[in-house]
Amino acid sequence: MKLDPETIQPLLEALARATDSISADVLAVEAGMPLVSWGSAPAAGVKGKDLTVMRDAIRAATAHVARDASADLFEDAETPGLTILATKVAYRDFRGSICLVRLDGRTYTSKDRELLLVSAQLCTAVMEAGEITDQHGRLDALVTYVAAELMGVTARDLAETLFRVISELGRYFGADTCFLRHNDPELQASVLVDEWPRRPDVPDPDPLGIVPWDTDDPIFSMIKDQREPFITRPSDGQLSYQERVRAGSGVPEVSLAMVPLIHDDTTSGVLGLIHFGDRIWTRAEVRALRAIASLLVQLDARVAAEESLHHHAYHDELTGLWNRRAFVEDLNAVLEADPRAPLAVLFADMDRLKTVNDVLGHTVGDNFIQAVAQRLRDSVRPHDVVARLAGDEFVIVLHDIGSISAAERAARRILDRVAEPLDVGGHAISRSASIGVVVNGDMPSTVDELLGNADVALLEAKERGGDSVVVFNDDLRSKLLVRADLELRLRTAIANNEMRLYFQPEFDLRDGRMTGVEALVRWQHPERGLLAADAFISVVEEINLSAELGRWVLEEACRQLATWKRTSPVPPPLVRVNISAGELISADFVGFVATLLSRYGLAPAELGIEITESTVMREIDDVQATLNGLRGLGVTLAIDDFGTGYSSLAQLKQLPVDILKIDRSFVSALAESSGDRAIVAAIVRLAEAFNLTTVAEGVEDPAAVTTLLDLGCYRAQGFFMSKPLPAQVVLEQARNPGVPLRMV
Ligand code: C2E
Ligand code: CA
Ligand code: CA
Repeated sequence: MKLDPETIQPLLEALARATDSISADVLAVEAGMPLVSWGSAPAAGVKGKDLTVMRDAIRAATAHVARDASADLFEDAETPGLTILATKVAYRDFRGSICLVRLDGRTYTSKDRELLLVSAQLCTAVMEAGEITDQHGRLDALVTYVAAELMGVTARDLAETLFRVISELGRYFGADTCFLRHNDPELQASVLVDEWPRRPDVPDPDPLGIVPWDTDDPIFSMIKDQREPFITRPSDGQLSYQERVRAGSGVPEVSLAMVPLIHDDTTSGVLGLIHFGDRIWTRAEVRALRAIASLLVQLDARVAAEESLHHHAYHDELTGLWNRRAFVEDLNAVLEADPRAPLAVLFADMDRLKTVNDVLGHTVGDNFIQAVAQRLRDSVRPHDVVARLAGDEFVIVLHDIGSISAAERAARRILDRVAEPLDVGGHAISRSASIGVVVNGDMPSTVDELLGNADVALLEAKERGGDSVVVFNDDLRSKLLVRADLELRLRTAIANNEMRLYFQPEFDLRDGRMTGVEALVRWQHPERGLLAADAFISVVEEINLSAELGRWVLEEACRQLATWKRTSPVPPPLVRVNISAGELISADFVGFVATLLSRYGLAPAELGIEITESTVMREIDDVQATLNGLRGLGVTLAIDDFGTGYSSLAQLKQLPVDILKIDRSFVSALAESSGDRAIVAAIVRLAEAFNLTTVAEGVEDPAAVTTLLDLGCYRAQGFFMSKPLPAQVVLEQARNPGVPLRMV
C-alpha cells in the first residue's frame, strides 16, 4: 500500500497544530519508521534515550489500535511528560495508525479525539483515492493481460485458458473465489463453467453447479437476464444467496461482484468475484471487470464460430456423422501409427434409395437417411467409425477386428439391422443395403487402397442383386480378370454370331392378353455359357460397343417380329427394345430405325423403344431431338426403370413418351411393403396426370398382381408370368399366361 505524502502531510500538519502536538505520524504495524509524518521530536528537544523511549511508545500504541478491534482510540500517558494519542487506520491489507505526541504533560481533550478520528477517516479516503488513480494503470494492464491471454485460444485449450484467467483475476483482486457461469437455455439454468480455486470437496449434487433460473434465490434468478454489474455485501440481506454459498462452500458470509456476459442482447453468463467477509468494490475495478466480461463474450462467439467451422468441415450436415475428410484423416492417422492395425473397412450402400427421395419427397428421403445413419451408428461399438461419404454411401471402420469371418459377421449384422422396416413420416420403408468389406492386416495398405478394394467388393455385392455382404478376396481380384476377358471377347462376339435375343412377354393383367414382348440380349459365351444382359451390358457400354450391339439387337428384334407376323396366328402386337445412351446419340439413329421398319414391313406402332430414366435425365438435351424424331416416326417410347432416376415433373412433361415402366425394385415386394405401395401409387397418379400408361416390371408372385390391379397399374411383365425365353417358345407362354383374371 503506497501513501502519497503530498496529500497526507498537509492533513497531518493541520491535525498536529489543532491538537498542540509536536508530531503527527501515519505508521504501519510492521514498519519501524512512520510512513508519513509531520513535525519532529528532535526539533522539539527530544533526544537520545528519550527519543528511543518515545518511538517505542508510538509503536506500541500503533500495535495496540491496529490489532485490537475493540480499541478505536488509545491514549498513553505512562511516560512522564509524554502523551500519545493513537487511532487505527485500516484499508485493504493496510493495518496501522495515526499517532499524535504531546510534550506539555496535558492529556488530549474529547475535541482532540474527535479530530483524530475524522483525520483517520480522511486518511483512508485519501488512500482509496490514491489507489484508484494508482491502480488505473494496473487495471489497464490487467485487462490487456486478459486480452492477450484469450487472443490465441482455440476450442481445444479453452477450458485451461479460462481457468488461468479466472485464477489471475482472483489473485489480482485479492478475492477468495473467482467464477465463470454460463447460461444454458436448454437446461434453463446457470451452469458453473469453472471456478478458482477449485473447491476440494464439492458436494454432490453441487448446489453451485447447475442452478435453475427459476430458483427462489434472487441472485441466481437474476443471472438469467442480468444487464448491469451487481454487487452484494453481507449487510445487503441476500439471505438465500448467502445460504446457498454456505451450503456449497461452507463460508458463512461473502461479498460478491458479478458482471454479466452479454452477447447479441442476451445474457450468456456471468463473471463473478467473491470475497469472504466484507469488501468494497471501486468503480474502476467494476469497469475493468466489465471490460474483461466483454472479452470473454467475444471469445465465446469466436470459439463457437471456430467450432462450427470445424464441425462443418468434418461432419455431414444431414446425419451429423463424419464426412469423407474426417474419415480419411482419421484412418490415415491410425494406419500411420500401425500399418497392420487389425481393422476392417466396410463400404455400405443402400439399394435403390434414390427413389425414396424422388417419389416420396426429399423430406422423407432425408429422414430415412438420418434413420439409417442412426442405425449404423447403433450397430457398431463406440470407438468404431461411421462416416457418410455421399448420398446413400456410408463407410464404417471396425477396429480390433481379428479375422475376415469376424468382419463378415459384423457386416451381416449391420445389414440385417439396417434392412428392418422403418417408419418414416407414416411410410413403412425398408431398403436393403449392400456392403463391401476389406480387412487390413496381411499387406500394409493405404486408405485409398482399402477404400478402393472395399468399393470393388461393394460392386460385387450389388451385382449379386443387393442385400448382400462381399468380402474383398483373391476371387474378386480374379473376377476383375474375368471382366478383362469379357472385354476382349466381346469385341468379336457379334461377328462370331454369339449374340442371341430372348423375349419376355408383357400382359394386360385384367384379361391376360399379351400386349407385347421385350427383347433382351443374351451372349452365348464360348466358355462360360449363356450370359444374361446384366453380366456384360456394362462392359459393352464401357468399351463403346453399345452402338454396334444396339444395331444388331434392333434389327434382330424387327426381323423376329416380321417372322412372327408371317408364321403365328397370334403374333405379339409390339416388340420393345432397350436402347442405351450410346446408341441414342449415335449418328442418324432415327434414320436407321425408319429403314428397319420399312425393310421388315412393320408399322411404327409395332416397335417400342425403352430408354432408362437415368439415361434420359443425364443427357436430356442431346436425347430430346432423337426422341422427338422417333415420336415423329410413330414408334412407342417408354421410360425404363422409372423411379430410379432423377426426373422431375417439368422434365417429364418435356419428353414425348407414352409408357412408364415401373422399376422392378418397387414391384417385387409390393404386397409386403407399404413404402413401395406408396411409391407405385404415386407413379400411377403421375402417369395418369400426364396421360401415360404404366407397365410394372418384376412381378414375381400373385400378390403383386392383385396389388397392381388395386393401384390401377394394369400392364406388367415378370417371372411370375414368364421368364425371358427364346423366340421359338415364348409364344406358347402368350397362349397360356397363367395370370389370375379379375373382374373389373
Ligand atoms: P431391363 O430393361 O429392366 O430388363 C428386365 C430385366 O429384368 C431382364 O434382365 C430380365 O431378365 C429381368 N427380369 C424380368 N422379369 C423379372 C422378374 O420378375 N424378376 C427379376 N428379378 N428379374 C426380372 P436382363 O435380361 O439381364 O437385362 C438386364 C438389363 O440389361 C435390362 O434391364 C436392360 O436395361 C439391359 N438390356 C437387356 N437387353 C438389352 C439390349 O438389347 N440393349 C440394351 N441397350 N440393354 C439391354
Ligand atoms: Ca427394359
Ligand atoms: Ca427395367
